[in-house]
Amino acid sequence: MRPEILFPLFAPLSTLPGIGPRLETQLAKLTGPKVVDVLWHLPVGLIDRSQRPKVSAVTEGEIVTLELTVDSHREPPSSKQPYRVICSDETGFITLVFFHAHKDYLRKNLPEGEHRIISGRIEMYGGVPQMTHPDYIVSPEEAASLPLYEPIYGLTAGITPKTLHKAIDGALDAAPDLPEWQDLPLLQQGGWPTWREALNTLHKPEDLASAADDHPARKRLAYDELLASQLALRLTRRKLKRQKGRALSGDARLRTQVIKALPFELTVSQVRSVEEILTDMASEDRMLRMLQGDVGSGKTLVALLAMLNAVEAGTQAAMMAPTEILAHQHFETIEPMARDAGISVALITGRGKGKARQEALAKLASGETQIVIGTHALFQEDVAFNDLGLAVVDEQHRFGVHQRIALSDKGPLRADILVMTATPIPRTLTLTYYGDMDLSVLKEKPPGRQPITTRALPLERLAEVTEGVGRAIRTGARVYWVCPLVEESDVLDVAAAEDRFASLDTIFPGKVGLIHGRMKATEKDAAMAAFQSGEIQILVATTVIEVGVDVAEATIMVIEHAERFGLSQLHQLRGRVGRGDKPSTCLLVYQQPLGETAHDRIAIMRETDDGFRIAEEDLRLRGPGDVLGVRQSGLPVFRMADLGQHSDLLKIADKDAELIVETDPELEGPRGPALRTLLYLFEKDEAVRFIRSG
Ligand code: ADP
Ligand code: MG
Repeated sequence: MRPEILFPLFAPLSTLPGIGPRLETQLAKLTGPKVVDVLWHLPVGLIDRSQRPKVSAVTEGEIVTLELTVDSHREPPSSKQPYRVICSDETGFITLVFFHAHKDYLRKNLPEGEHRIISGRIEMYGGVPQMTHPDYIVSPEEAASLPLYEPIYGLTAGITPKTLHKAIDGALDAAPDLPEWQDLPLLQQGGWPTWREALNTLHKPEDLASAADDHPARKRLAYDELLASQLALRLTRRKLKRQKGRALSGDARLRTQVIKALPFELTVSQVRSVEEILTDMASEDRMLRMLQGDVGSGKTLVALLAMLNAVEAGTQAAMMAPTEILAHQHFETIEPMARDAGISVALITGRGKGKARQEALAKLASGETQIVIGTHALFQEDVAFNDLGLAVVDEQHRFGVHQRIALSDKGPLRADILVMTATPIPRTLTLTYYGDMDLSVLKEKPPGRQPITTRALPLERLAEVTEGVGRAIRTGARVYWVCPLVEESDVLDVAAAEDRFASLDTIFPGKVGLIHGRMKATEKDAAMAAFQSGEIQILVATTVIEVGVDVAEATIMVIEHAERFGLSQLHQLRGRVGRGDKPSTCLLVYQQPLGETAHDRIAIMRETDDGFRIAEEDLRLRGPGDVLGVRQSGLPVFRMADLGQHSDLLKIADKDAELIVETDPELEGPRGPALRTLLYLFEKDEAVRFIRSG
């Protein structure tokens, strides 16, 4: 349960001054729905109002604060013209300019003969300085209310700077003094302020330095966020690992048989990954390992060998895929190899019904079925294992960290866990992503792969693309044709794909199939099967096929409106071809004019097919906040930490978290209560629960 001290920070935005129901919705879009979100909406810059020149010394464009005497009001003859107020100091005159002025208001705030302190941007008009709509007009007595350094915030429709400033002031007032969770030496070394001071320093800046990324207040807040993230990861991992697993070591009898039957040698990376996995499985600790490898790097085989090890050791193994198509595909790859080794493999998806399903479930419960492949349905309540030793989760960047945790919580707790992912994570992000997992990487692709030629063409040359496709299918080629991603709308995606299907089908009657996310699972299977068998040669698809489909005969990938896809997505799509022994082509068809980022993405695609390089470039082009489409990848999103700027802090935070988990895993030491508060502050409630339930 969240500690009471945090309640004001988790209150809704409507508790802030000036925020009613309508503004609450707007502001929540900008900052997030809670008071603390407003505090974490840090300034993106500062206005310096500390310059106080004399009128004779002002220059065009600068922001200044002037001490002026109000000389006279010049009301305009018509309301189309601006209202002017002439002011001066001992060195010269300046005109204040107001459009659509309220005369009474100006008379009241700028009485003739009085002194005023006025701040705003200087313009020159025929050599005479003027200021249009000054930002501040205050009397000498109120001078203290004029900020010398004024924070600038990212804004959104409906939220003015004034509204936001007021809300932030309210949030700062509501912010409690929190217990210090950071290590004192670390704070002293960096000259870091307390949590509350840090927020005050940034929102109420007293000098220009606070705008810099390396300002102690910013670093402190970034570090808080990173420490919370790494501590939560490490606590979770400890909990999962601490569950005593069991030592599973097979006698290699099945593995040897399968490896012998392969028409190829394992790659060096595959051998090493299998060794790492076998070592983990043989240990008493529960395995929690990620197998990362680019599309086509041969993860499935590694997983199969791990599963056979579990079977040799007398247990069962399960493999869970993100989609029905993939579950089928894994089944079709794995089942024949396993059958040759005398192992029975079952496929259990959400779709199966009635007697057949009951029988399959019964065989699984009795232990007769040794390997099972399926979807989420595998972890439904009616699925019981006799003795599950290993669970393989084929993530393909569909599941996030959270689902992973949920799986191991709901699923059979003692089983070793192997997660497979095709998403190459940029080096800068591995710590935040894999902090909770051991990692095996398949670096090289299997040998003998034919290179993929990547070409880019503008949409105007689509006819050439179609002709090329026509020539290719006459020689028996198989073609994927991926249709534009329509923003936020799978309905429109589908319409685009259906249109393309219709037009290609008139050109190549009977040779074209269609697959998209809104089709029934059976229809998808049928389309895939027809493509696989060669009955159809062109498969028009939405990004459904992004996830792991393997048709070795496919040698052409057409991506329409390539400019709308992210770099990693393009890479994943391209990885669907080049899987067989024939050279392949990827055609990126784009709409002109190309934006700069889209241009760079396409250039990189043509330059390299190294998934890690592409992931790094993706990070660079999109910024860490958006890499790989953070939401679907489950990568943590940081608000105050910027991994470009603060990667050194991430390393320290991870070490710190490691030390905490080693020395005080229950968070019961002197720093413990404060660290719990930190975890709750960043909504790592799950991680705190793990400590308690331990
Ligand atoms: P991933 O799941 O990593 O995308 P797969 O496991 O589907 O890749 O492997 C892609 C293809 O490569 C499969 O057809 C597989 O049989 C083949 N393959 C796997 N390992 C090797 C190897 N060592 N040498 C040659 N081909 C391999
Ligand atoms: Mg083990």
